[in-house]
Amino acid sequence: MAHLLLRGEPLQAHGSTAAGPATVEAVLFDKDGTLSSSEAMLQALAEARVVHGCRLLAKDHPQLGQAAGSELVTLLQRAYGLDAHGVHPAGTTAVASRDHNLISTATALCQVGLGWPEALELAHATFLATDDLHGQGSTHRPMATPGLPSLLHQLQQAGVACAVISNDEVAGIEAFLESQQLQAHFQAIWSAEHVPRKPDPAAVHGLCALLGVAPERCALVGDANSDLVMAERAGVAVVLGYSAGWRRRPPLASRFAQVGNWQELSIASGDS
Ligand SMILES: [Mg+2]
Repeated sequence: MAHLLLRGEPLQAHGSTAAGPATVEAVLFDKDGTLSSSEAMLQALAEARVVHGCRLLAKDHPQLGQAAGSELVTLLQRAYGLDAHGVHPAGTTAVASRDHNLISTATALCQVGLGWPEALELAHATFLATDDLHGQGSTHRPMATPGLPSLLHQLQQAGVACAVISNDEVAGIEAFLESQQLQAHFQAIWSAEHVPRKPDPAAVHGLCALLGVAPERCALVGDANSDLVMAERAGVAVVLGYSAGWRRRPPLASRFAQVGNWQELSIASGDS
């Protein structure tokens, strides 16, 4: 049995008035912005989708003219959460799955004058042209967030299982873990290809079932309110916001405990 300590203080069960630290048998980690420093990769991906979307619009639908292309740039940047400061940590690129981003793209294309079938086809073509940038490109390959390997080692030593819950696809999750030589630390993953996907609380229950651990004996760490609210609704004991994965601090609700960096977390063994 183990307890998590945040800045030296034992963490109690989220929303509970019961005294005493929560027992934690497993920690469920979000990937992008939590396990991985994904911002540079996500920014490159979103910018490439804007460029390719506009290029394909001009090539396939020249009758819409240059004004439609200029409007599309603005619409896609807003849809993706791209601005002069980079990628918004609560925006579509940062939080949503590939297919939700694809629907956002098709919606923007409708707004500049395409019908839905043409918009969806062009959005698909745009994503196919840019998918290789999603974590696999050598220049933007995401690294583990600072201090993560040490925390994972401590959890392993304490007998606490670890799992990934992400809206990336299985191949993307596995490629990241392998690139950082972290795969041995994770006993299970729950991806966008699992049903249901996050932020449905049943995604947490599905992952807990894979681990054989009750949600009441888990912690979940994420960098988006959707992760944290999901954990709360799923009955997860310890719900932690992580804010060090972004240049801009993610806007996390204050009722959740928040970790500024992995060094603030430690593990204590207990008998309860
Ligand atoms: Mg995230």
